[in-house]
Amino acid sequence: MNQSSTRNKKPAIKKDMRQQGQPFSEHGKVKILPLGGCGEIGMNMTIFAFDNSVYFVDAGTLFPDASIPSVDVIIPDVQYLLENRIMPTAWLITHGHEDHIGALPYLFQEFPAPIYASPFTLELIKEKFSEFGIKDVNYNLWQPFQTVSLPDLKLTPFPVNHSIADALGFFMETPYGNILHPGDFRIDYDPPEKSSTHHNIAQAVGEKPVHLLMADSTNSFSVGTDKSENSLTEGFIDLFSKAEGIVVVTTFASNIWRFQTCCDAAYKTGRKVLALGRSMVRNLMLAQKLKLLHVPAGLILTEDDPIPKDPAQLCVVCTGSQGEQFSGAARLASGGIEKLKLGVGDTVIFSARSIPGNERSIGVLINQFIKMGCHVETGKDTNVHVSGHAYQEDLKTVFNTAKPKYFMPLHGEYRHLQKHIELAHESGVLQGHTVLAENGDIVSLTLNSFEFVSSVHSGRDYVSQGVILKPDGEVMKLRTALAKSGMASVTFVYKKRTWELATLPTVILKGVPTSDESCKAGLDKVFLETLNFLKERKNIRKESLEDELKNRVKRHIDRISGSKVTVVVHLVDVP
Ligand SMILES: [Zn+2]
Ligand SMILES: [Zn+2]
Repeated sequence: MNQSSTRNKKPAIKKDMRQQGQPFSEHGKVKILPLGGCGEIGMNMTIFAFDNSVYFVDAGTLFPDASIPSVDVIIPDVQYLLENRIMPTAWLITHGHEDHIGALPYLFQEFPAPIYASPFTLELIKEKFSEFGIKDVNYNLWQPFQTVSLPDLKLTPFPVNHSIADALGFFMETPYGNILHPGDFRIDYDPPEKSSTHHNIAQAVGEKPVHLLMADSTNSFSVGTDKSENSLTEGFIDLFSKAEGIVVVTTFASNIWRFQTCCDAAYKTGRKVLALGRSMVRNLMLAQKLKLLHVPAGLILTEDDPIPKDPAQLCVVCTGSQGEQFSGAARLASGGIEKLKLGVGDTVIFSARSIPGNERSIGVLINQFIKMGCHVETGKDTNVHVSGHAYQEDLKTVFNTAKPKYFMPLHGEYRHLQKHIELAHESGVLQGHTVLAENGDIVSLTLNSFEFVSSVHSGRDYVSQGVILKPDGEVMKLRTALAKSGMASVTFVYKKRTWELATLPTVILKGVPTSDESCKAGLDKVFLETLNFLKERKNIRKESLEDELKNRVKRHIDRISGSKVTVVVHLVDVP
C-alpha cells in the first residue's frame, strides 16, 4: 500500500495559521497528536484531546548517538503545546521504561497535572521527581481492570506482557470512540505477569467496540513470536551450571522479570545472587516492597554480606547492559570492585537488546571482559534474552482479539509504522481505515471517521547536564563546530588614537592541529590590510574593525590550518 492511500497528508501548516490561543480540544471528535515515538523507537509522547479535556500519554527520552556531542538524552520538543497553552487534564503513564517516563521530570514542570500509573511505574516516577526536587505532585495509583472515571473519559487499565514489571495498556472510552492503547507489549503464553496480553485486552474491552487501536510497532518486521520469558530459565540453568567461576548477568535494572529468571537459575545451580549498580539495587528493593519477586530467603546477598569463597556459588546481576559508564558491569570490567575481581573461568552474560546508539560502548565493555579472560555471552549468541515487544504473530493476535475499526501505529521508525499498517490490513482492518501519523501530525477520530487533519511543529530537544537545548540553537551549533575543528582565540592590542598595533597579535589554539606560532605569522599584516580597507570606506570604528577582522582572521587561520576553525577575536585598545 502506498502512503497516499493510508494518509491524506497536506503540507505543513504555517505557524500563524495554527490555532494560536484557541482551545486545542474540540467537541465532536478526539484529536490525537503524537509528539514522539512516531518516527523513532523512543521519546514516546501522545496527546489526546476532546471536549474539555486533554490527556498526555507518556513522556519518554531517546538516547543520542555518538554524532551528537555532549548530549545526555533527547526529549520531545513541546513548543507547540507551550505556544498554544495546551495544558494536560492528567498524565496517563503506560509503564516505567525511560522511553516512556524519562522526559517526565523535564516536561512536568511546564505541564503540571495529576499523574496516573501502576504501582511500580509510580515508584520509578517518584524517584525521578525526588532527584529533580519536584514536590507536591498529585499521584494516582491504578489497579488492573479497575475502571476510573476521568473528565470526559472512562479508562480501564489492563496488564500487558513486557520487559518491565507492572506495564499497563489502556481501554479509553470517549464520547467519540473507544480507543485501545496497549502501550509497549508482547504476548507471552507463559508469562511472569501470570496473564497474557490478548486475554487481558479481551477482559478490559468486553463486548464494547474498539473504534481505534494504537499499537507498538517496534518488532513489526519480526516474523512469528518470541519465546516466553520463563523459557529463559532453562538456558540460564545450563549456562550457570557449566560456568566454573562467577556468573555475571547484565540487564536493565527495571527488568524485574529477568532478575527473577536469574534468581530461579541461581537457586537451582547453588549460587547466591548479588545485585550490583545503584538502580539495580534500588529497583530490587522496590520489587521486594511491591512483592513482585518470589525468591527463597537468603538467596539474595546484600552488599555487606560476605561473598561465597567458591566463585561457582555466585551470580552477580548488574546494570551496564548498554555499556553505561558508571554501571555495575563497567566497574567489574575495570576491576574497580575489590572483592569481585573477574578473570579466567568467569562468565558474563549480556541479557538485553542493544539500544541503537549504544553499540560502541557495549563493544568496549565486551572487549574489556574478554581481555580479562572472561567468557562472554550476548543475546545474539544464545538464548539469554527475549524481546519485550510484539512480533508479527502477536500483533495479528491483538488485531483478531480487538477487531478495531481504525488503526494507527505507534512506537517505531517510519518503516516499522508502515509495516504495521500492512499487518493491520492483512488482519482485516479496511483500506482507508489506517493513518500513518508522524510526530506533529494531528489526526481526528469520530465514531465514523479517522483521518489526518494537519501538521504542527514537532521535533527533538537536547538535554545536556540538565539544560534543555535546541538542536539548531547557537549552543549546539557552536559545540558541533568546536568538536569538528577546534577554536582559535586571537587578541589584537592597538593604540586608540593612531589605530596602530601596540604589540604583536597573540593566538591561542584549542583543538587545532597547527602551532600557535604558524597562525600568528602574518596576523599583523591582516590587521593592517583590514584597517586600510575600512579607511577606504571611511568606516573606522571599533565595531566595524572587529566585524571585518573576524572574517579576515578566520580566512587566515583556515588557510594555515587547513580546516574550518571557530575564531574568536578580541580587540583591546590602549591609550
Ligand atoms: Zn517499554
Ligand atoms: Zn517503549
